[in-house]
Amino acid sequence: MLPLRTSPSLSRRGFLARTSTGLAAAAAASMLPRSLNAAAEPRRIGIVLAGLGNYSTRELLPAIQESQHLKLVGVVTGSADKGVAWAREHGFPERNVWSYADMARMADAPEAELVYVVTPNSLHAEHSIAALRAGKHVICEKPMAISVAECDQMMAAATAANRSLTMGYRLHFDPYHQELIRRAQAGTDGPYLAMSGGFGFTMGRKVWRAERALAGGGPLMDVGIYALHEACLAAQADPVALTARERPKKRPDLFVDVEEALDWTMEFANGARADLFTSYADNMNRFRAEGARGWIELEPAYSYRGLKARTHEGPLTYPVVRQQTLHLDALAVALRQGTPVPTPATLGRRDMVIIEGIYESARTGRRVTLRY
Ligand code: NAD
Repeated sequence: MLPLRTSPSLSRRGFLARTSTGLAAAAAASMLPRSLNAAAEPRRIGIVLAGLGNYSTRELLPAIQESQHLKLVGVVTGSADKGVAWAREHGFPERNVWSYADMARMADAPEAELVYVVTPNSLHAEHSIAALRAGKHVICEKPMAISVAECDQMMAAATAANRSLTMGYRLHFDPYHQELIRRAQAGTDGPYLAMSGGFGFTMGRKVWRAERALAGGGPLMDVGIYALHEACLAAQADPVALTARERPKKRPDLFVDVEEALDWTMEFANGARADLFTSYADNMNRFRAEGARGWIELEPAYSYRGLKARTHEGPLTYPVVRQQTLHLDALAVALRQGTPVPTPATLGRRDMVIIEGIYESARTGRRVTLRY
């Protein structure tokens, strides 16, 4: 498990006011107690799922059902019938079925404390801000939004509402990734100076993920973000500059206004480099970090389950966990106790600065210096 680490940037009120990156948040997951005593936890945190698509239904609902500190108390959906069916099946009142246009009315439901935004990327800002204005804490899926400007608006809304805004970066709760973070923080292999890998899959048919209007971009927004986030964890720093190249499209009919595949290189202040890749036309799910004294490699690296990792000393084996349950329980405990929240919005904004830099470099062919 990770060493305890505290940072002023992790205080709840503190992070809301900040726009810089809180890398120590990576460690926050494991420093949170898994359980609260009965006196400290009078009741479970009421959570609302906003968007009832694949990820909500297949991964987040079971995670909430397994959690110790959360209870599903409502949904936001475009289909009232579907919402009512969820209310009956999961035992919350039908009045807690809201439409997207109706989210302000969540203010009338004090039992709903936390909203999980799981809609297409270009709607994250609108739906997160609506939930924050209704007085709810928000956990937002990746990418945080589709521009840094939107991230800033979301963080301003969180500050104005005095509510937490956090990211669904589930891998912070995966034991293999925690081991990578632990090694990076302890300097076990020396500082990681050479990182490589990527995340891509072959998209078979056109879905919203390949439309700029809803996705904000192509595979970089969807899966490439995992690889760049991981490189920052391994480097324990934010990149200072990058260069990026878009690959020629094999299926331009499918990827009309978004990239099909991208390579990029991130540079860190200590000289470390990360050569990364994302694609909707190739399968890759790998991350490697190398230092002077050793290395760690994860493959598959970013999946919900079935991760594998090895180091120069041999394979690593950890028990299977449901990352999302651990994440949501840690968030619930932090919200109840008023302690630093895991995976704060600052990380989502930092990643969006990098994503905008990658698109700029791919477009202009120039090296881009990153400003946070
Ligand atoms: P999905 O298409 O299965 O679900 C999207 C939901 O949004 C649907 O219920 C849809 O009805 C709703 N929606 C609301 N307004 C919409 C509109 N105008 N157009 C289209 N749909 C609309 O997608 P998903 O796979 O569940 O992904 C949702 C979000 O979750 C995305 O931001 C994605 O990046 C993220 N996600 C994260 C992970 C993870 O591992 N952290 C995994 C999958 C998806």
